Amino acid sequence: MTINVLFAAHIDRWETYRSPLKSAFSTLGLSVHLSPEIAAAEVDYIVYAPNSPLQDFTPFKRAKAVLNLWAGVEAVVDNETLNIPLARMVDPGMTQSMTEWVVGHVMRYHLGMDRHINNPDHTWEPHTPALAAERRVCILGLGALGSSVAQTLKSLDFDVSGWSRRPKSISELTLYHGANGLADALSNAEILILLMPDTPETENTLNAKTLAQLPDGAFIINPGRGPLIDDAALLTALDSGKIAHATLDVFRTEPLPQDHPFWTHPHVTVTPHVAAETRPITASQVIAENVRRGEAGEPFMHLVDRANGY
Ligand code: NAP
Repeated sequence: MTINVLFAAHIDRWETYRSPLKSAFSTLGLSVHLSPEIAAAEVDYIVYAPNSPLQDFTPFKRAKAVLNLWAGVEAVVDNETLNIPLARMVDPGMTQSMTEWVVGHVMRYHLGMDRHINNPDHTWEPHTPALAAERRVCILGLGALGSSVAQTLKSLDFDVSGWSRRPKSISELTLYHGANGLADALSNAEILILLMPDTPETENTLNAKTLAQLPDGAFIINPGRGPLIDDAALLTALDSGKIAHATLDVFRTEPLPQDHPFWTHPHVTVTPHVAAETRPITASQVIAENVRRGEAGEPFMHLVDRANGY
């Protein structure tokens, strides 16, 4: 029997995903009709991205799941018309991309690369950077992305700690959890990486009080979501030197408005939400596997807990 899969991500992604999705379904032996146009009453699965025009799921009476192409679900998780399982994207290609992006920016801070890249006066000031084992790096959020980043940094010998909502155990890492663990986690963060989702609970995790709990001269790397940081508090901490520098990939408003002070702040690097894009070939394999599971009556992978918002 043919399975009807509606492609309801933004239409400009159709040409990118059409062939990888078809190939992934075929590899699993699934007979799928994949199209951006299928009558709602006939749709079995919805491949989705929150910037799709599709916002009302009510007409999809027989659909079994919405399969999100993005890791972040804050723009769909509260949709009251969505009453079927919602799976988010955990894509090995995206995880690799995020890990490489974060490691690159950690290395920039760890080695103090900027002092040689930006040296207009041609000063000759040799210095001996710390070794990785002497550098304390902390990751807020230890999910698919954060745990990969943590393990890779540990494999490079960094002194890695992390923080999550629930208790966790990852070999050789110092881990904290819950509201009570945050201050201890921050006190260990010469370089702090934010990899949490945007939920009501995580908004402004970094604020005036928590920024003050970081070591003086800490570095911040945020590829998570803009609302994790109180922008005004961060700017104050940067101006005072409490925070030495921040690399920000995500913002409350994207694209970051031209008049936002982050653009011109001498101690901020802005990157345009490029840390980790979903990779069509590997992501299509994840989507196809979830359709296979749905058809076999097996549990879906990467289901979103709607109550927790991620
Ligand atoms: P995930 O697997 O759901 O992991 C989220 C982590 O955050 C988990 O460890 C979770 O704790 C923790 N967390 C959630 N709420 C918390 C709270 N209130 N207090 C403390 N910890 C909390 O997500 P992921 O796949 O790693 O992705 C993380 C985020 O990265 C996404 O939500 C998205 O916003 C962002 N992202 C950005 C880009 C980019 O290009 N910039 C690309 C992809 C994703 P538990 O382990 O206890 O549940």
